[in-house]
Amino acid sequence: MPELPDVEHFKRVLVQNGLDRIIKSVVVKDARILGEVSAEAFTAHLRGRRLVAVRRHGKHLLAKLDADGWLTLHFGLSGALEFIQSRDVEPPFTRVRLDLIDDGSLAYTNKRMLGRVGIVEDAASFIAGEKLGPDALDPAFDFPAFQAAAEGVKRDVKSVLMDQEIIAGIGNIYSDEILFQARIAPTTGIAKLSPAQLKQLFLETRKILKTAIECGAGSEQFVERMPRGSLLPERKKGGHCPRCRSPLKIFKVGGRTAYCCPRCQS
Ligand SMILES: [Zn+2]
Repeated sequence: MPELPDVEHFKRVLVQNGLDRIIKSVVVKDARILGEVSAEAFTAHLRGRRLVAVRRHGKHLLAKLDADGWLTLHFGLSGALEFIQSRDVEPPFTRVRLDLIDDGSLAYTNKRMLGRVGIVEDAASFIAGEKLGPDALDPAFDFPAFQAAAEGVKRDVKSVLMDQEIIAGIGNIYSDEILFQARIAPTTGIAKLSPAQLKQLFLETRKILKTAIECGAGSEQFVERMPRGSLLPERKKGGHCPRCRSPLKIFKVGGRTAYCCPRCQS
């Protein structure tokens, strides 16, 4: 499931291949991904335009058009953005394809259709409308800001990390990794953490998201490139703690499957 590091990868795909190139044609293969917008309106808005800037906020990607508005991409549980040189190699589950001038296309794929592609007038009001909290890697979102965001929250720490209104970008996979590295059990109430634990949680959040980006999250074989001692490769049935080799505990938190080490995380 795409989280902040994966979406950062999609951002790079767009920056490297799709910026400042005229969109020759737009192919909507499944209009359900556009929500309320019709395929005709979407196509008319993008055809002949260029994407001139890209930003990511949490798990959302926003690309500015040379005319009015922004293209927004959300990847849900199974979405991705790929650049293809030829339409003949279109990936499976392509829902929207932007064919660029001088060949090449950007393909938005989404197997499970839980995501959204759209056009909005303004990026800032879109982010506000989605009620997104600060991006987890925003330099302005420092430890005091993190502390303030956690203040008075009476829920378990894993749900808080995954709450996009508090901090945008973290999902099920990276919250497990962050809590494992910070040695905090996912069900611990965030209000119960000591100031030192909260600081550790903040530092691990930044470190892990940045490391995942550097290791190429969102691309193939990325898990093998994560540093030794990462939980990620073990995050499966029958997985073991990379630190003490205990069998990992698998359980549900807020409807999501969590993995943790019952010995190392308390
Ligand atoms: Zn352990």
